Amino acid sequence: MLIGIPKEIKNHEYRVGLTPSGVKELVKHGHQVLIQQYAGDAVGFTAHHYIGAGAQIVDSAQEIFQRAEMIIKVKEPQASEIAQLRPGQILFTYLHLAADPEQTQGLLASECIAIAYETVTDARGGLPLLAPMSEVAGRMSIQAGAHCLEKTQGGSGILLSGVPGVAPANVVVLGGGVVGINAARMALGLGANVSLFDVSLARLKELDAQFGPQLTTLFSTTDAIEVALASADLVIGAVLIPGAAAPKLISRQMLKLMKPGSVLVDVAIDQGGCFETSHATTHESPTYVIDNVIHYCVANMPGGVARTATLALTNATLPFALALANKGWQRALQDDSHLRNGLNICRGKLTYAAVARDLELDY
Ligand code: NAD
Repeated sequence: MLIGIPKEIKNHEYRVGLTPSGVKELVKHGHQVLIQQYAGDAVGFTAHHYIGAGAQIVDSAQEIFQRAEMIIKVKEPQASEIAQLRPGQILFTYLHLAADPEQTQGLLASECIAIAYETVTDARGGLPLLAPMSEVAGRMSIQAGAHCLEKTQGGSGILLSGVPGVAPANVVVLGGGVVGINAARMALGLGANVSLFDVSLARLKELDAQFGPQLTTLFSTTDAIEVALASADLVIGAVLIPGAAAPKLISRQMLKLMKPGSVLVDVAIDQGGCFETSHATTHESPTYVIDNVIHYCVANMPGGVARTATLALTNATLPFALALANKGWQRALQDDSHLRNGLNICRGKLTYAAVARDLELDY
C-alpha cells in the first residue's frame, strides 16, 4: 500500500504521524511510504532518518493527498486537508468528531474512510490509542505542577521531594485512571506524600495492591477532598466520566481551604475541567491565579513534549496501521472488532453512533 504522512499544520502541533522506525516496519512489510519534507524536523526526525528508513520525501502535502492510499496523521484534518481527501482514501488519525460538525460534514463529503484513533478499543474495555497521551499528560502534570510551585512562578516555594530534614510536599490526585496512576507514579518517584482519590473501590484496590503503603488511596467524596485540600501543595485533576463533562470536584468556595501559592493542575480540562475555577490555557500562557491558588489548565499537554508523545503514539498506532496496510481496510476491520470501533465515517456515511447522536445526524 502507498502510505502518506503530511506535515501537521494545526497551530503549534509539532508531532508527526509516524516515526522513522514506524516507516521501517511498514517498508519491511512491502509498503511504500511518502513523507512530507520537514514533517518530523521539530521532534528531531529529519529527512536523513526517514530516507534511511526507506521513505520517499515529497515537497508538498498536495502530492501526498493525491497519491497515498492511506494518510496517517496526528490531529484532525484542517479545512485545506479535508478539501484534498479523495473517495476511498483511508484517513487514520485523531478526529474527535462529536464536537466538530464542520469537520464531520467535510469528511462525509470527501467520501473517505475515516478511522479515529480515539474510538479504537481494546479487549479490556480501554482506549489504546488515547492511553499513551493520558500517560504523557499524567506524568507531565507533576513536572508542570512542581515548576508552578517555584517562588518565581508565583508558587509557595516548595520542593516536591523536600530534602533531608525537610518534609516533602503533599500531592493529591483526583481520579485513579491512566492519567492519575501516571501522576501518582511520578510524584511518588520524586518522594512526595501522595493521596489518590477515586469513586471506584475496585480501582482503589488495584492501586493499593500495585503501589503498597507508599500510596494513600481514598474514596472520593466532597468531605474527604476538603480535608485533603487543607494540607495539599499540589492537586492533579484526572477524573473522567466517559462521554460526559467532568464533575466539578473543587468549588470556588473550597479554594479558600488551600494554602496560598498551592497549585491545581486540571488535566481533565479537555472535558470541561474538574475544578469550578478552571478554564483552558495554552503552553504559551499556561497559568492564572484565583484566590491565591495557581491554576494550570493546558488542554493539549502532550504537545509540550512532542517527541516523547510522537514515539508513544506511534508505538500504539503502528500495529493497526500495519493491519490496515497489509490487509486493506475492509479485511482489517472485519478481522478486528476493536479496530472496527475506530471507523467513524465510511464513503459518505456516518458509522459511529455516539457522533451521530451528539451531532443529530443520520446513522
Ligand atoms: P480514565 O477513564 O482512565 O480515568 C478516570 C478515572 O476517574 C476513573 O478511574 C474513574 O473512576 C475516576 N472518577 C470518575 N469520577 C470520579 C470522582 N467523582 N472522583 C474521583 N475519581 C473519579 O481517564 P484518563 O485517561 O485518566 O483521563 C482523565 C482525563 O484527562 C480525561 O478527561 C482525559 O480526556 C484527560 N486528558 C487530558 C489531556 C490534556 O492534555 N489536558 C491529555 C490526556 C488526557
